[in-house]
Amino acid sequence: MGRRRGKLKRKLLTITIIPIILTGIAITFSTYFTFSNTVQKEVQRGLQSIAIITQRMYDRLYKGDYYLVEQDGYYHIYKGQTDLTGNDSVLQEIRRDSGVDITIFYKDVRVQTTLRSEDGTSLVGTVAHPSVTKDVLDGKKEMFYQNVLVGEKAYFAYYTPLYNGDGTCIGMVFAGKPTDVLKKEIFLAMIPIFIVVALVILISCIICSGFTKEMVMIISRIKTFLREIAQGNLKAELDSRIMQRDDELGEMGRFTVRVQKFLREMVEKDMLTKLYSRRIGEIKFRQLYMEALENGVPFCVALGDIDFFKKFNDTYGHDCGDRVLKEIASIIAINMMGKGFAVRWGGEEFLLIYENCTLQTAGEYLEKTRQEIISHELHYNEEILHITMTFGIVEGKKEMDIESNIKMADDLLYQGKMNGRNQITGFLQE
Ligand code: GH3
Ligand code: MG
Ligand code: MG
Repeated sequence: MGRRRGKLKRKLLTITIIPIILTGIAITFSTYFTFSNTVQKEVQRGLQSIAIITQRMYDRLYKGDYYLVEQDGYYHIYKGQTDLTGNDSVLQEIRRDSGVDITIFYKDVRVQTTLRSEDGTSLVGTVAHPSVTKDVLDGKKEMFYQNVLVGEKAYFAYYTPLYNGDGTCIGMVFAGKPTDVLKKEIFLAMIPIFIVVALVILISCIICSGFTKEMVMIISRIKTFLREIAQGNLKAELDSRIMQRDDELGEMGRFTVRVQKFLREMVEKDMLTKLYSRRIGEIKFRQLYMEALENGVPFCVALGDIDFFKKFNDTYGHDCGDRVLKEIASIIAINMMGKGFAVRWGGEEFLLIYENCTLQTAGEYLEKTRQEIISHELHYNEEILHITMTFGIVEGKKEMDIESNIKMADDLLYQGKMNGRNQITGFLQE
């Protein structure tokens, strides 16, 4: 049993919270990939335009073709009349404004570049990655690379072929951003999205777990209530807040209470008259008698019997007799509300116990009941039947036992029968 406790809660939490977390992760990843693709496309466009702008600026600033000249044992790169060697101020300016590194290649050799190695030395004189040379220089194609190695560092880069006036491919132009810088930028831009998703997951989990806890708590209260009933406690009470709920759990609670009420009636009440059975009547009377002994509260005992009841059975059948019992019991029950309780004592005999009542008051109550019985019309097979009852009533005597109290009322009832029926004995009307 112990191992099973909390199983439902765990299951419900698992089937709600895990999908929420998985959905959150899926949303985060898909957003990250979409966002990073969009950013990469944007950056690609930016790199492309910077490479083209650089090329055009050089064409405008330095008219003529690119060529190499050997001077004093060193190679100098010229464009038209201008020696570009060591003069990379234009590239540095573009880098400052855009944050993009630029390189001009003569063939596959870097002749002007903003790129620096780890120790800060310029990468002029170093060569392009062989696959870049093959694709761009030999293949004469512009290319994007997500992860091209420049020195030790990976770059997100754009390469475009560089042409001289006669159309010969003389080199390349590179525009790029370090991949780790770009990734960091994307990651930083994603932080608000991560936070929002995490918050949504957290709030959803809190709501789900709160809801699950409440649901499981209600179910377990209904379970405890059912267990009490199963153990025979038909007086167990279900939390009124569950009863008031307007959802299925409230309905379940209300049905369970109805089952309890039905069982209680089956056990405690006489099925025909719906009054307490003799067994329960005795128990209830004993409880009241003990309370009266303790706190001195007065009570009255009345015993009633339907007059000539046998006649109804004999003349109209047993069915009619049952109807008479039912309708009389209902009048008695309604009249006893708030005054005490009524018991089907025998066949057509009823025991009425008036709680916290003097003989005078109880007698008046009983007389009212008797009058209602007299004036009641019972319609049976197009006939109108009238019923009367004889009662004996006594004030409860605490010095006498229960049986003797009932015996006193019974003796008075017998007297009433002898005196012509349809009357109350033991109480004098004022
Ligand atoms: P009295 O005025 O002296 O009380 O006469 P009575 O006919 O009412 O009294 P008696 O004790 O002779 O008859 C009671 C009858 O009630 C006998 C029995 O068959 C009948 N009876 C007892 N229980 C039931 C019941 O549950 N249903 C029906 N239909 N009859 C019942
Ligand atoms: Mg009778
Ligand atoms: Mg009788």
